[in-house]
Amino acid sequence: MLKKKEKDLVKRCFLDGKVVFLTGAGISLESGIPTFRGKGGLWERYDPDTYATIEGLASVLRRTPRKFVRFVEEFYEALLQAKPNPAHLALAALEKSGIMSGVITQNIDNLHQRAGCRTVVELHGNAFRVRCQRCATGIPLEAQRIREMVSLLGKNAHSYRSLLSIFARYCPRCGVALSGAAGNCAGRFRIDVVFFGEMLPEQEVARAYALIDRCRTLAVVGSSLVVYPAASLPLYAKQRGARVIEINAEPSALSAQIDYSFTGKAGVILPEILDVLKIAG
Ligand code: NAD
Repeated sequence: MLKKKEKDLVKRCFLDGKVVFLTGAGISLESGIPTFRGKGGLWERYDPDTYATIEGLASVLRRTPRKFVRFVEEFYEALLQAKPNPAHLALAALEKSGIMSGVITQNIDNLHQRAGCRTVVELHGNAFRVRCQRCATGIPLEAQRIREMVSLLGKNAHSYRSLLSIFARYCPRCGVALSGAAGNCAGRFRIDVVFFGEMLPEQEVARAYALIDRCRTLAVVGSSLVVYPAASLPLYAKQRGARVIEINAEPSALSAQIDYSFTGKAGVILPEILDVLKIAG
């Protein structure tokens, strides 16, 4: 339950102008997607220096195709089962009521969109989309096609060549439409997630700064704030004169520098915030 002073703070922060959210892996934990670094996360079983880089993954695929396929299966397992939780739905309700002007997310799970959020800035891409490496055209890769692809990979895990041809089918050349409109530059599509060492998509970063420039409150949810450059956004917001609050299960790397920390589960605290604001979830 929120304390009296927290309820007052919610009213001050959320009713005096546009609120922007910055979300991280913690908001999706209650949807069953483990954080990568936390207990049971992918990086406990797979070394991120290899598996979170394009070069590393290409080398695993070439040398040990079965290990590569196992990784892809595990990567998509939780993502394919997850559904938006009360925290994602609360953000959608805040947007609908005009209080939230957008959500900037580090997540790649598509759950904000599935919850109904319209303005979603994706700093690290989206695992349910492929992108042309030349012209950057993005095309959704629906859950059903991912299931199909993962199943085919599993059946052909013994053969590097077969795996390559399966990828070529799901990540074709630009101009060979997967679904919807595609570009036409003949570049190769790839999964639209940002790997370690890669630049963040410029356009999304610009949209994130533009949202923060116009907000009065930045609310960080479920992020340890250790992954840069996303972690620099709360301090940028403060420099621009916005309040910064966080809703997190435990203190983040920037807790000491921000205005207030709500400690607890996002799926509990955000619906309570809706209650305080008298917004239907
Ligand atoms: P992180 O894993 O570094 O930190 C998660 C934070 O969430 C922790 O501080 C934890 O205390 C908090 N938390 C855990 N459960 C919570 C809950 N129920 N409610 C509120 N807070 C909770 O996450 P990060 O800062 O986003 O950085 C991880 C990187 O990994 C990001 O770049 C992200 O792209 C990626 N990632 C994404 C997903 C996803 O798309 N769902 C999942 C795992 C990792």
